[in-house]
Amino acid sequence: MNKAIFFDRDGTLNVDLDYLCDFEKFQWIDGAVEAIKFLNDNNYLVIVVTNQSGVARGFFTEDDVKIFHNQMNEELKKFDAHIDEFYYCPHHPQGVIVKYKIDCECRKPKSKMIEDACKKFNIDKSKSLMIGDKIRDVECGENAGVRSILFEGGNIFDLIKKFV
Ligand SMILES: [Zn+2]
Repeated sequence: MNKAIFFDRDGTLNVDLDYLCDFEKFQWIDGAVEAIKFLNDNNYLVIVVTNQSGVARGFFTEDDVKIFHNQMNEELKKFDAHIDEFYYCPHHPQGVIVKYKIDCECRKPKSKMIEDACKKFNIDKSKSLMIGDKIRDVECGENAGVRSILFEGGNIFDLIKKFV
């Protein structure tokens, strides 16, 4: 079985700007690239689980989200690092785009994104970790049965080194 580190995206891997989808404004959190590279080199899958209700709210499209994620991996290539998979929830019950205006099973703190990843990648939850800057990230991990830690700012690699 595989082991994984699940990351929230906005506020955890990159600086949180409201409904970010313009890659020009993208900025890594301190230590994020080093953390990803370290995990790549130590046989951890690196998996992003992110709520992107900006899709439901009509601020950007799913394609924009996918392009954004591809650009993150393009940036990581410069450091010989990569994110293995991105899971995102485009829904929100108060959205304006009908297709996405649902009370879904994937929006954190629900655990479907982690559950789906665990099935797809044959992940051993007991050897894995969820990290995010919001309580709902911790709840999401716990709902999936994965040990979870809250990132409260600073250098994220320093935090991860304490747990892996
Ligand atoms: Zn959803």
